[in-house]
Amino acid sequence: AMLLEMRNIRKSFSGVEVLRGVDFSLKPGEIHALVGHNGAGKSTLMKVLGGNYADYEGEISLHGDKIRLLSPRKAIDRGIAIIYQDFSLVPDLSVAHNIALGREPRGRLRGTIGHAILRRRSAKEAERLGIRLPMDASVRSLGVGTQQLTEIVRACSREVRVLVMDEPTARLAPAERELLFSTMRRMADEQGVGIVYISHFLDEVCDLSDRITVMRDGLVVATRPGADYTLDTLAELLVGHEITGREA
Ligand code: ADP
Ligand code: MG
Ligand code: MG
Repeated sequence: AMLLEMRNIRKSFSGVEVLRGVDFSLKPGEIHALVGHNGAGKSTLMKVLGGNYADYEGEISLHGDKIRLLSPRKAIDRGIAIIYQDFSLVPDLSVAHNIALGREPRGRLRGTIGHAILRRRSAKEAERLGIRLPMDASVRSLGVGTQQLTEIVRACSREVRVLVMDEPTARLAPAERELLFSTMRRMADEQGVGIVYISHFLDEVCDLSDRITVMRDGLVVATRPGADYTLDTLAELLVGHEITGREA
């Protein structure tokens, strides 16, 4: 059964249609890569999923239930977590505080005790995801890879069924990429989280993904198991001559 299904999704900006009838699906525990040239519509599709555009057209269902994602709140409440390209961490706060941002202990539990509670809660959430983080370090002092992992723990600190990441590896060093991939794999395998990620690194996409969807000009060109692709066939689809989407 599908965890997520998006059907015939359309989205226009000022009368220009940039998603022209996109179908996309995600299975529980699946790592699904979304690739395509700049301007293909990948980020826009993701933002629809994040509840950023109340005026999208098409159908979305989660576990077979039809839903409308009309606000970021609705997406979060449905267990859809999005990590955008520019993270929203607060650089001068600690890792622990960033993970718990907006959920700080209040009233009598502020101050030192509050901080201890917050720290323990954040450490627990990281541990549940199998991610090790320097809880007391300021985010500013961390490498981008560790910042990315902090963002993931934060995004997943509520119950997450769908995790979406926009170019999560773009700024990472190779070792940081490995760490991110193993974390993604574990979340998918052990917790059944469905993961969508956008990447321009076709070799890593071929290696890591259970399925790959190729987008071009606001349409889906192909969706196939990752194992069906080689670097060459994937690159060819990206450049592509024929579009086999809805409007072909
Ligand atoms: P990708 O992520 O695949 O590079 P995007 O989804 O960012 O592509 O963009 C798809 C198209 O939509 C592009 O032509 C882009 O210029 C346009 N677009 C994206 N966001 C907006 C916006 N807020 N206003 C107007 N046009 C936009
Ligand atoms: Mg782009
Ligand atoms: Mg983009």
